[in-house]
Amino acid sequence: MKIRRDVIRLALEIARESYPNEFIALLTGRKGIIEELIFLPFQAGETSAIIHMDMLPLGYKIYGTVHSHPSPNCSPSPQDIQMFMKHGIIHIIVCYPFSEDSWACYDKSGNPISIEVID
Ligand SMILES: [Zn+2]
Repeated sequence: MKIRRDVIRLALEIARESYPNEFIALLTGRKGIIEELIFLPFQAGETSAIIHMDMLPLGYKIYGTVHSHPSPNCSPSPQDIQMFMKHGIIHIIVCYPFSEDSWACYDKSGNPISIEVID
């Protein structure tokens, strides 16, 4: 699995704009390359973020999720892992201060994994 650098940059930018609130989006793409974010209505509750998957346009393959943390902690919470398990296999967390390397990637169980960033 690979991800385009501009997808990471966009996620960091939206995280900065959303701060101090969190945002969440879905990762989509083609042939194992994450190329786009899909924004669906969501509720960031105390316990977990609920994504309204019924609003998903047809024809998109969901690779995973990206969400922001308004703190410098890029680790997934237990609630994050519950959400990871429901939506794909690659999960990115961007964390404050949302600079170029303020992000981490996890599998659906919350284990850190590496992902190749391509231009
Ligand atoms: Zn989180």
